[in-house]
Formats: sequence, C-alpha cells, structure tokens
Amino acid sequence: MKKSLIYQGKAKSVYQTDNSNEVVIEYRDDATAFNGVKKEALKDKGHVNNLFNAYIMQKLEERGVKTHFIKVLSETESLMKKLQMIPVECVVRNYAAGGICKRLGLEKGMKFERPVFEFFLKDDALGDPMINTSHILTFNWAAPEEIKYMRKVTFTVNDILSKLFDDAGLLLVDYKLEFGRFNGALLLGDEFSPDGCRLWDKQTKDVFDKDRFRQDLGDVVGHYKTVAKRIGLTLI
Ligand code: 5GP
Repeated sequence: MKKSLIYQGKAKSVYQTDNSNEVVIEYRDDATAFNGVKKEALKDKGHVNNLFNAYIMQKLEERGVKTHFIKVLSETESLMKKLQMIPVECVVRNYAAGGICKRLGLEKGMKFERPVFEFFLKDDALGDPMINTSHILTFNWAAPEEIKYMRKVTFTVNDILSKLFDDAGLLLVDYKLEFGRFNGALLLGDEFSPDGCRLWDKQTKDVFDKDRFRQDLGDVVGHYKTVAKRIGLTLI
C-alpha cells in the first residue's frame, strides 16, 4: 500500500492511502506529557496501543458505537476511516483524579455520584483549556446536534468500558474521547488506550495508565501489557 505522511502527532503518525476516504494510523513508541515538556521513547508502546485500541474499538462497535476503526494492518499500524476532526476533547470522570482535583480542590480517589462530563479545546499552544457548549457554538467548533451526540456517545462508552474494566478488576477513573465527521455522520476517532484514560486496580488502587509515565512510576508499558492481558487481549 502506497502511503504519504499527512500529520505527525505526539505519539501517532497519520498517512494518506490510495483511497482518499482512508488513512493509516501508526502508533509510535513516543510518550509525551505536560504538553510535550516530558518526552521519552517507551519500547513496545506503539505495538501495545495499536492492538489495545483495535480491541476496544471492536468491543464498542459490537455494542453499536460507530468508530473510525477498519482493521489492524501490522504490529503498529491500523487502517481507519479518514475523519474531519472536531477540535474538542470529551472527558468523562467517574472518580476524582488529575485536572479536576487541582481545579476544584477535590481529594484524589473520591467516587462521583454521577459521572462528570467536560469539554476541552484541542489546542497545544493554549494547553487544552476547558470550554463549555457556549464556546463550541459561538466559535463553530461543532453544531448543536453534534454536541448532543458526542455527550451521549461518551456516556455510552462509559457504561460499556466501565463494565469491561470492572470485569478485569480495574476502575475506569476517567478518559478522553475525540470525534470526527465522515460522510455527514460523526464517528468516534483518535484512540482509546492507557495513554488517554486512567485505570486503577480495584483493590490496591495501583496505577496502570499514563500517570505511570507522568509521575515516573516506572514500567509503563509492562503495566499497559498487564491491562491488555486482564481484559482478554492477546498481543501478537
Ligand atoms: P485531566 O484533565 O485530568 O488531565 O485528564 C482527564 C483524562 O483525559 C485522563 O485520563 C487523561 O489521560 C485524558 N486526557 C486529557 N487530555 C488529554 C490529552 O491531551 N492527551 C491524552 N492522551 N489524554 C488526555
């Protein structure tokens, strides 16, 4: 397959294929945190995240969530539908951690009676600031029905994945999703991997996500692999 690089993100590269409706996403070993200030290559992360994302996207598709995922092409590459990305991040939080603790002075680990939903603007230069639906409408980042759809699907994903991780002895603390337009419809895009969510062991509260990298807890990819194994994913 002929492919040419069209976008290089912090951990993924996107290539155009011969088919103008499809792209190849390559998951690299690069890890970044604090808006790119902390950077490292973590052996095998690309491979694990590629297969992790494929597994989760397929589970979501089985449950009726429409995603951009088509198929895995190699250890580190998958074929996806080419989306026109909406420049917002949708975050759902089931437990207090990270940004919300700082912002609202909450104790880490507090369980929310109902999940919290937040929008952030995807803008590295601004450090992804929190925004609300009024900003999204005023600045035309998404239409009213798209906002409703992203919210609804992000909560549906929470129901599906909280159960999937719970069955593996893990708490889905929070996560970030991104959506994009394809032929007039919105699809779940980007990725779902331990890079974009928080996962804690239900009993010990041990950390199994990218906070291991952010906080220098060590053996980042080893912990991603353990999560993969616990949810029933065999790494090729
Ligand atoms: P927080 O707002 O606490 O930093 O992040 C909330 C959740 O969304 C965490 O699971 C975090 O990993 C994820 N998240 C938020 N922004 C980003 C981002 O720009 N990149 C990635 N990979 N994850 C993000």
